[in-house]
Order: sequence, then C-alpha cells, then structure tokens
Amino acid sequence: MELWYTEEHTDNVRFSIKVKEHLYHGESEFQKIDFFDSQEFGKFFTLDGLMMVNEKDEFVYHDMIVHVPMATNPDIKNVLVIGGGDGGTVRELTRYPNVEKIDMVEIDEKVVRLSEEYLPITASKLNDPRVSLYFEDGVAFVDGLESAYDLIIVDSTDPIGPGEGLFSKAFYDNCYRALTEDGILVNQHESPYYERDAREMKRAHSKIKKLFNVSKVYQFHMPTYPSGHWLFGFASKKYDPLKDAKLDEWNKLGLKTKYYNTEIHKGSFALPSFVRDMLEEV
Ligand code: SAM
Repeated sequence: MELWYTEEHTDNVRFSIKVKEHLYHGESEFQKIDFFDSQEFGKFFTLDGLMMVNEKDEFVYHDMIVHVPMATNPDIKNVLVIGGGDGGTVRELTRYPNVEKIDMVEIDEKVVRLSEEYLPITASKLNDPRVSLYFEDGVAFVDGLESAYDLIIVDSTDPIGPGEGLFSKAFYDNCYRALTEDGILVNQHESPYYERDAREMKRAHSKIKKLFNVSKVYQFHMPTYPSGHWLFGFASKKYDPLKDAKLDEWNKLGLKTKYYNTEIHKGSFALPSFVRDMLEEV
C-alpha cells in the first residue's frame, strides 16, 4: 500500500509527495500540525494541510529571506523574526557575527518544539545566545514598539488562520514604527501565479507601498509551493536593495550559500512582465 501527501494548490490542481512515514499528527490551539518523512523531500511539515518546510528545498527560502536584506545593509544588528517556528530564518541570521540580537516571535510553541525534534536541520540554532524566543502573537508584539529593530522578517503562514493579522495594514504600520530610521522589512509575499495567491500578493503590496520609501518585490524558485514561483517583499525607509546593496562587502564575509549569491541578489528583483503589471495595478 502506498501513502501520499496531497495538497490542493487550487480547486483544480493538486501536488502530491509519496510518504515513507507519517511521523506526527496533532492539533495546537492555532492549527493542525503534521510531520512526514519522504524519499524525495526528506522530512517535511505542514500546517493546516499546507507545506511549510522540507529538508530538500528549505535552503532556497531561508537564503533568500535573510541574505537579501543582510547584503543590502551588512551593519544590521538587531533583528525581529515574526513566525519562522521551524528556525531556518534564525539559523541563517546567526551566521552573521555582526548581528547582536535576534528576537523570534512565534505564536505556536508546538511548531518550535516539534521542529527541534524532527527538523534539526532548521531548528539547530535556536539556542544561540543572541536568540530570544517569545511565544506570542506577532501582531500584538510589534504594537507600540519604536525604533527597536534594524530588520524585521515576517516569516509567516498564508493570510488565513493565525497568519491573517500579519498581512494587515495596522500590522505594517506598527512594523514601520518598530524599525530604526534605516530599517528594512522583508515579508513572505505569496505568489503571482494562481489567482488566490496573486490576490493576496497584490493586497499586501498595496498596503506596504503606501508606507515605505522603498517598496519592492523579489522572486525565488520554491519547488514545493504552489506553482514554484514565490515572492518576498522588501520595504525600507532608506535602502534600495539594488542601488545601495553592499555586495562586495557581503562577498568578503565568505559565507557559503547553496542558493543565494550576489548575482541572484540582483537578478531576483527583475520580475516577469505579468508580475510587474500586477504590482503596478495596485
Ligand atoms: N516557510 C513557511 C511558508 O511560507 O509556508 C513559513 C514558515 S513558519 C513555519 C510560519 C510560522 O508562522 C508558523 O509556525 C506559524 O505558527 C507562525 N505564525 C502564524 N501566525 C502568526 C502570528 N500571528 N504571530 C506569530 N507567528 C505566527
């Protein structure tokens, strides 16, 4: 008998992975959590039936969410990660000796504890002395903060369930205030390809664009997310990720990465025409 994990990418499209073992199934206060093992993608976990992280392509997502802002301003010292319970974003941040403080605010402690058990590949650096974990709603956490962080990374689920507030205007307003005068906000920005994801992408972009001096979108290739074509938002009070990026400085750090490099940095902001049109529409 064969066991397959199947995710509906749209009402008419499904994506399936053959499963070796269903390692865990449970429900937290916030969401359904499942961990699987598979031949093709190694271990992976889903929240409410949606792929979050797997051993095979997590490097793409975590390289791009961290190294693009860090190469734009290598002087970043204080970082806030919202969501990111698997620990992959924190793992990449801890590779920078200059970073002094990493606060991670994850609503669901269960995601962190299970990732520590099943996905040490991403969760291995959560005990770095610079890291503080807060098990709270990221929306409430940023409310009232002022000039506290050089970089905020929103490593969130989709805008349904607990992640919904992380796509709201009030949340982006609070992130703006919580950032220093040269602060950068990077957020999980959905996908331009299928209609539902594209709608969320446009909604997020229209809100962020009104607030920040610089508001751009960059892309990466994520095999296990719907369509494989995924985006992050890059917003900043000061830095343009192309004109101001310190790419030579970043290369001198000598960090070995599997997806990110400084050519990808530049290329990822070059968007297909249909995506540019969508972003201009909003
Ligand atoms: N790479 C993933 C993706 O895009 O599918 C996201 C990774 S991470 C697992 C997302 C995390 O965001 C989840 O663990 C979830 O519990 C957390 N999260 C959702 N809403 C949140 C909120 N309001 N505050 C803090 N964390 C939240």
